[in-house]
Amino acid sequence: MAILSCLGKMRIDILTLFPMMFYNVMNSSMMNIAQQKNIVDIRVTNIRNFTYDKHHKVDDRPCGGGPGMLMKPEPIFRAVESIWHPPDVKPLLILLSPQGEVFNQRLAKKLSEEKHLIMICGHYEGVDERVRLGLTPKEISLGDYVLTGGELPAMIITDAVTRLLPGALGCKDSTQLESFQNNMLEYPQYTKPEVWRGIKVPDILKSGHHEKICKWQLQQAKLRTRKRRPDLMEQNKKVEHDEPS
Ligand code: SAM
Repeated sequence: MAILSCLGKMRIDILTLFPMMFYNVMNSSMMNIAQQKNIVDIRVTNIRNFTYDKHHKVDDRPCGGGPGMLMKPEPIFRAVESIWHPPDVKPLLILLSPQGEVFNQRLAKKLSEEKHLIMICGHYEGVDERVRLGLTPKEISLGDYVLTGGELPAMIITDAVTRLLPGALGCKDSTQLESFQNNMLEYPQYTKPEVWRGIKVPDILKSGHHEKICKWQLQQAKLRTRKRRPDLMEQNKKVEHDEPS
């Protein structure tokens, strides 16, 4: 799959009842540039367009009672099948859900190696269970909290995945030196002026000594990670321990 995404641009389809939410986010900054550079093709589809009744009904009461409304299965299935026509190769179907695997940089990297993602945004009380049973999507959660809809998670995942695609960022090293690469947080960084409100840029960074600077940056990254995210350091130790000597 990684080879395929090098050969052609990645496609990301987002199925939602609120397409307007995406316009500014998808057409700004890095995601806009990546689309202009033909690195990614992001398409937003309104699930409501796949309702055939007079009132374009997309939700209904839960069977057996309970609060709120659930998204009906038919428009979601039809929206997916307007993009993916079996027996064509199945894209990776994703259902945004607080009950799914928690999203992180490792999962972003894995998704960036796919050729085509289709993300289904739930809303209201969620989706009819037959969306899970019939379409067998991968469920992804943004974290242990409940949002109003899957739209913000879909935007976040699209951003995190797109910036990992080759050529999306101006500098190819940007993603290599970032937080969560090698289970570490990034080292502190400074720009000009050299002194601001009495706070100086560390002398080492002005020394021009590349090797010493790299050593300092690694040291700082380790210190920061140990202090803020000891759990990441533990994962590193585990990897080192598990590696054959
Ligand atoms: N009743 C559902 C439950 O308790 O699991 C929550 C439904 S939530 C109000 C509506 C929709 O928002 C979900 O179907 C999902 O698409 C999205 N959503 C909410 N929280 C999310 C999270 N943490 N990660 C990903 N999607 C989320």
